[in-house]
Amino acid sequence: MIPYGKQDINQQDIDAVINVLKSDFLTQGPQVPAFEQALANKCNSQYAIAVNSATSALHIANLALGVGPGDIVWTSPVTFVATANSALYCGASVDFVDIDLRSGNLSIIALEKKLIDAKNNNALPKVIIPVHLAGQSCDMQQIHALSQEYGFKIIEDASHAVGGQYQEKSIGACQYSDICIFSFHPVKIITSAEGGMALTNSDKIAEKLKLFRSHGIVSEQNKMTEPSHGPWYYQQIALGFNYRMTDLQAALGLSQLNRIDTFIEKRNQLAKIYDNAFSNSNLKVLTPKADRLSSYHLYIVLLPEVNVELHKQAIIKLREQGLCAHVHYIPVHLQPYYKELGFNPGDFPNAEEYYQRAISLPLHPQLTAQEQKYIIEQVKALV
Ligand SMILES: *Cc1c(COP(=O)(O)O)cnc(C)c1O
Repeated sequence: MIPYGKQDINQQDIDAVINVLKSDFLTQGPQVPAFEQALANKCNSQYAIAVNSATSALHIANLALGVGPGDIVWTSPVTFVATANSALYCGASVDFVDIDLRSGNLSIIALEKKLIDAKNNNALPKVIIPVHLAGQSCDMQQIHALSQEYGFKIIEDASHAVGGQYQEKSIGACQYSDICIFSFHPVKIITSAEGGMALTNSDKIAEKLKLFRSHGIVSEQNKMTEPSHGPWYYQQIALGFNYRMTDLQAALGLSQLNRIDTFIEKRNQLAKIYDNAFSNSNLKVLTPKADRLSSYHLYIVLLPEVNVELHKQAIIKLREQGLCAHVHYIPVHLQPYYKELGFNPGDFPNAEEYYQRAISLPLHPQLTAQEQKYIIEQVKALV
């Protein structure tokens, strides 16, 4: 089966991990700060805080922005469940903003309308989490302008988008957000097996992210409430977690980061071949806008119209033919857990239409020309 996504591991990656195994530190050693510094440099952000997953990064990003019980967080319904869950972990409530079918990203028109309603009802969100679907940035400049008007904070869920650009700046530069988070799960652009990173330009937010990453414990005297008892002393000043990345993971991530531009280039080349192949078909493709570089975590096509049975049969057929077609994502508000919270089918019609039309095709740096040709033939035979 040709997978929809797959990691690319070379000998340098393997050597980097083995070197850590032979070193004094498997965790809390020099590899984690080295990976953080390298990614902050790559993205032009002031701070980068490595954690054990993007889910953890989202959780502590919400906490660092003060999200708690009574607060409201908005995100896109077309995302992985972790995005919305991260706000629920903090005791906040979650709501969604419908998407734009051309990009699959949160719609600015829907957002503006929802903000006006929320203001009238005194129920404005504290934080909005735009999700850069498939690697294409959301309209961050417009979202940021609305944040100034309505007073919310912004966390970019850039799990798909490390290595991408928006208005000629790296995603992660946080030009239009408070925090940007990345995932290094093996299906994503670069991997540390499991892992994530939270980037910010605020020293205060960076401090909080570090605090929540490691039990809420400090060991610097100037952050303590009473004089140190001695060289062993530390204080817990908040309720944090153990969300630390290991040095094994950081070494792998750092080694992968060396090849990120090659990965993005290859993914864009493959996407272009798909684009050309489908340009004279009745499939719709999610084409990135001119002012942004997609990292092409996913290549998504939309069937011409909603037909639940046809959509299902198309994916079954492609899988029978040896290629792992997939759907990203089942709208979060339709998950049973979220339905229990009061969401219903019909709440976000574009997200639901998108779900009934979308197919993710295999896309990863190791996909061969021959495999891609085969995939294109199979997809064209369907429509
Ligand atoms: C993968 C993903 C996550 C979670 O990432 P993990 O590193 O597996 O925790 C969150 N949001 C989106 C949009 C993702 O694709």
